[in-house]
Amino acid sequence: MSVVDRQEWDVVVVGAGGAGLRAAIEARERGARTAVICKSLFGKAHTVMAEGGIAAAMGNVNSGDNWQVHFRDTMRGGKFLNQWRMAELHAQEAPDRVWELETWGALFDRTKDGRISQRNFGGHEYPRLAHVGDRTGLELIRTLQQKIVSLQQEDFKETGDYESRLKVYQECTVTRILKDGSRVSGAFCYERESGRFFVLEAPSVVVSTGGIGKSFKVTSNSWEYTGDGHALALLAGAPLLNMEFVQFHPTGMVWPPSVKGILVTESVRGDGGVLRNSEGKRFMFDYIPDVFKEKYAQSEEEGDRWYEDPDHNRRPPELLPRDEVARAINSEVKAGRGSPHGGVFLDVSTRMPAEVIRRRLPSMYHQFKELADVDITAEAMEVGPTCHYVMGGIAVESDSASARGVPGLFAAGEVAGGMHGSNRLGGNSLSDLLVFGRRAGLHAAQYATGLTGARPLVDDVQVDTAAAEALRPFSAEGPEPGVENGRPPENPYTLHQELQQTMNDLVGIIRREAEMEAALEKLADLRVRARRAGVEGHRQFNPGWHLALDLRNMLLVSECVARAALERTESRGGHTREDHPAMDRAWRRVNLLCQLVDPTGGLAATDPVRGQIDLVRETTEPIRPDLLALFDKEELVKYLAEEELYE
Ligand code: FAD
Repeated sequence: MSVVDRQEWDVVVVGAGGAGLRAAIEARERGARTAVICKSLFGKAHTVMAEGGIAAAMGNVNSGDNWQVHFRDTMRGGKFLNQWRMAELHAQEAPDRVWELETWGALFDRTKDGRISQRNFGGHEYPRLAHVGDRTGLELIRTLQQKIVSLQQEDFKETGDYESRLKVYQECTVTRILKDGSRVSGAFCYERESGRFFVLEAPSVVVSTGGIGKSFKVTSNSWEYTGDGHALALLAGAPLLNMEFVQFHPTGMVWPPSVKGILVTESVRGDGGVLRNSEGKRFMFDYIPDVFKEKYAQSEEEGDRWYEDPDHNRRPPELLPRDEVARAINSEVKAGRGSPHGGVFLDVSTRMPAEVIRRRLPSMYHQFKELADVDITAEAMEVGPTCHYVMGGIAVESDSASARGVPGLFAAGEVAGGMHGSNRLGGNSLSDLLVFGRRAGLHAAQYATGLTGARPLVDDVQVDTAAAEALRPFSAEGPEPGVENGRPPENPYTLHQELQQTMNDLVGIIRREAEMEAALEKLADLRVRARRAGVEGHRQFNPGWHLALDLRNMLLVSECVARAALERTESRGGHTREDHPAMDRAWRRVNLLCQLVDPTGGLAATDPVRGQIDLVRETTEPIRPDLLALFDKEELVKYLAEEELYE
């Protein structure tokens, strides 16, 4: 039996992005002893990269805005597949969460009369994104970190120990959620620098590990996005919801190759930037789908007038939801009207004075200047779609953020499914993190501190199995050292590259049946090879080893995406099937749940060739009538299934 250090907490939060930190603050304030654990340095989570802003219907710039309008926009953006109760709670609670951030020290940009300024973004009817230039995520994380430090100072005054009630384990990775029967009992972890294993024992674990972008070749996501939380939940027995919905942001950098995929924020378009093809045409006017026809400008003149007079003009189609814009760019490039490096042109230089561009979009100005030697105040940017966000995720109960089927497991932030339906609106992630981060922390604390019987116990056998699994890349068991079954070990970097290429080429922005079948075959092959992923050296900071461990998660999650995408024979939001190009109203009633083939969710190895995922269809919950009443009947006819309309 391995000797592994153990520490006892009430709540363990896996992930220190916006969702994790907000959950931890809430759990600690509700009296739970709370540990936060994160792969990167404290304060370096992916949330820091968020640029455009946080969506909240505060109505500061247009008093017509309110939670009902925000709810409507979110449901439309998600093509009505959203878990509607989450969309409702999100729209109602987002303004309070933004105000709360200010009381904790955040400072958002202001309107002339001193209110929090709000900017336009795709799919939002009114200016709704509170922002700090194009560095909103940084301010959000800075503020939450500061709040955590202030809570630790309070604890020091009372207990003499800063970390008595709230401790951050940074640069540590969780590889398994541990269970006592069906209940969560803790998390198995390792320190990235030393390779030391340890266990955090707790009846509540909040998973807030972000997204899955590193399974794709071209992505805006940071290195941490290897789908760990999705996989941890699956392995613990919780289902994942609607994993086919992956958002390809329309505007990532396409040049030079070393920075391909890095995000060009949507605020460039929100502030007036326009998309043109190689013929100089503002092509988005040709791509307004029927469901949005009445809401978008039909001419450039009207679209341009909207920036000054939004009450009497309709929005330009550059501000359609992201899935629409990404598909349009893809079509232009395919039709031979792309830019020299395979994207299209995004231009602010002819739309705003240079000094305004530098003030409103400072990060974009520097990003292009430093990475591509392009001065965006003088020339257009070249942009194209990049894998950006996963709408699918851990299936949760809307109010409590508890993961289905595993008592003590909670999920919030990008790793949780349901909130955004088939497509997320820009700005709705940061608000999601705060609204559901808070809810997850609250319910995790209540669950842990309200337990009446014995706390769930950590099982030594599970700890040993988790340790052996983590050490496997160092010791391929075979007739010769370093060789399993007579075959040489596989290089984790090669496997990762092949996985990324497979997902990009075969399960990317436009999907076809035969390609997804080929992807599943390739994934099966990669899974077999990944079992022989071998690394040299020691456990002390060894990036190859870390990647070998992350591969398990990326392969699991990629299989979920490919299987669900193959099953859903329609196009909706972030899922586009070339062989089924239309949205099918009958599919609105269908959720696809991915579950591990081994239903015990135990640590038993599954047959890598068979595949590890079973798909289950589930009927969506009917939308509450008072929420449906917020839409025109004619609009509902476009989305709801026939029988729902009769009901
Ligand atoms: P993250 O902030 O990614 O945090 C995940 C945490 O989990 C990290 O601390 C990581 O270290 C940790 N972790 C992961 N795996 C493990 C593990 N196995 N063990 C321990 N810890 C682990 N959204 C908006 O609403 N507005 C925007 O303007 C916006 N701009 C964006 C710009 C860019 C460039 C990108 C890429 C995204 C943007 N988004 C935006 C999306 C938004 O930033 C993310 O969806 C959001 O930040 C996710 O937050 P999170 O708390 O769920 O996860």
